[in-house]
Amino acid sequence: MTETSETPLLDHLKRRIALSGPITIADFMNDALAHPEFGYYRKQDPFGRDGDFITAPEISQMFGELIGLWAAVSWQQMGSPRKIDLVELGPGRGTLMADALRAVRNVPGFSDALTVRFVETSPVLRSHQQTAIMPYGIPATWHEVFDDIPSRGNAPMIVIGNEFFDALPIRQFERGDHGWAERLIGVDAGTGALGFVRGQETPVTDALIPATLRGTAKPGDIFESCALAIAIADQVARRLNAVGGAALFIDYGHPHSAFGDTLQALKDHKFHSVLDQPGDADVTAHVDFAAIGRTILEADGRVGAVLTQGTFLRMLGIEQRAELLKETADAEQAKLIDTALARLIEADQMGTLFKVLIGYGRDTAPPPCVSGAEG
Ligand code: SAH
Repeated sequence: MTETSETPLLDHLKRRIALSGPITIADFMNDALAHPEFGYYRKQDPFGRDGDFITAPEISQMFGELIGLWAAVSWQQMGSPRKIDLVELGPGRGTLMADALRAVRNVPGFSDALTVRFVETSPVLRSHQQTAIMPYGIPATWHEVFDDIPSRGNAPMIVIGNEFFDALPIRQFERGDHGWAERLIGVDAGTGALGFVRGQETPVTDALIPATLRGTAKPGDIFESCALAIAIADQVARRLNAVGGAALFIDYGHPHSAFGDTLQALKDHKFHSVLDQPGDADVTAHVDFAAIGRTILEADGRVGAVLTQGTFLRMLGIEQRAELLKETADAEQAKLIDTALARLIEADQMGTLFKVLIGYGRDTAPPPCVSGAEG
């Protein structure tokens, strides 16, 4: 395939731009990922070794198992309530949840208290999730958006999101001489290809930029904002305050708000030009964990300090878990376990790029791995 290969979605985007002018990056991501017919997550199962990328739960069962145990201990610290909702945002194939449910089967009372709530927009992935958790016999419901999950009396909630926020649409703003201009996507009149263009500079956009960065911007700096991630973090924080509970967000991103263009596309495990073959490649951006944390604090929720994935998984005992698995493994399996462990925790792999943020309700005891709590 060449740079200019047409996809049905490319056609649709070009028509859209011809009709109404350049679109925002958020509009582009929405169509590229979630267009009902041609969107990346709507038409296929993109995960795993055969897919375009591989996520932590697909690398090793240890990931979901340890998160299950984190959830079980969080529940115990809440006083082992008789009912609890275990929510997962963007559960992909359902692998994380299946591994978690298997790992907690021996925690007295926890499985009986559980109802699983999946927030998933893709019908294809919903059916994978249903199959994945079937063996564990835990009641489960599916929801389009987080706020659709009903509150059940005083049942608290544990919310998990792995590589969820990075898939949500962002907008980009570029600093000019007099203000900020939104980066938009238009069609190049000469080549007919999609290309980035600058919108009008406006001083108003300053309000979007965190106070810590506002004074430091130089012309050419790019600021990214993800309104949907902020809205969801706010909804989760409000719910945790209302019913009690904890949230665990894991994603690649930065612990402090910063300038930079982090929009990227992946196809066949390789970086791919963002505007090329939309709908056939995954498009993501790094998550601004400081913005998520601020949002939770502004809603009067609580957050722990941002941890790296390596630190978090070590705190949960991933190295001991790997040793235990190796006791019953043959030499080849043992090698695979070591490779998976390294991928998840080593600094040059997922260990430091991926970050962990834990939030909890203002009346909830801090869950495990909340260190150096802020707010
Ligand atoms: N957590 C999984 C999958 C990550 S990919 C894993 O770690 O393997 C992102 C997931 O979020 C997919 O399941 C995708 O369908 C879902 N998703 C993307 N945008 C969404 C949205 N706006 N609402 C709900 N789910 C969404």
